[in-house]
Amino acid sequence: MNSVHQGPFLFNCADLPRRAGELREYELTFDAHEPLGIPLFAVPQDEPIEVDLRLQAVEEGVLASATVRALAVGECIRCLDRVEQEVEEDFHELYIYESDPRSRQPKRREAEVIVDDEDPVLTMQGDYIDLEAPIRDAIILNLPVNPLCDENCLGLCPGCGVKWEELPEDHGHDQVDIRWAGLEKLAGLENLTPPPERPEGSV
Ligand SMILES: [Zn+2]
Ligand SMILES: [Zn+2]
Repeated sequence: MNSVHQGPFLFNCADLPRRAGELREYELTFDAHEPLGIPLFAVPQDEPIEVDLRLQAVEEGVLASATVRALAVGECIRCLDRVEQEVEEDFHELYIYESDPRSRQPKRREAEVIVDDEDPVLTMQGDYIDLEAPIRDAIILNLPVNPLCDENCLGLCPGCGVKWEELPEDHGHDQVDIRWAGLEKLAGLENLTPPPERPEGSV
């Protein structure tokens, strides 16, 4: 059993009496945390995560209901511009008293497993609950799978990597040889840059 409580999202529930029905509400701001999200889209570490937390003491432990708010940042998949996404998501999690014998009753356990098949049962650590997993899940649930700066983003020209929006309408690249195509468009330069296949000395 770990007696040292660590983690950026640990919350001390000592204020909440362990009597079923007791309620407490808190407005929390988490400033110091690792980036939370997926590799290409996340709440940066310097971006605060606000949590409106409502704790309710129940028979088995503490029921945490919360609204998570944060700003996630990523890249447009077409043009790589910065994309921001406001996150606002609720979660409800039951944290079981680690000392409560009820949490060790086989019958109760089986019921938990059936109801919460996908989520592991969360257990309190002394007076603490660790909000990291539900906060992380709430954020990830809100992140765009294919982030776009704009639905109509045109992306980048595959020939030169410049944004289509910033290029003239007739912009294009000669498919045979981009360098020669560019030079031939410059009037008067044809004599200085003869096509390479012309034999030397012939007129
Ligand atoms: Zn874009
Ligand atoms: Zn181009």
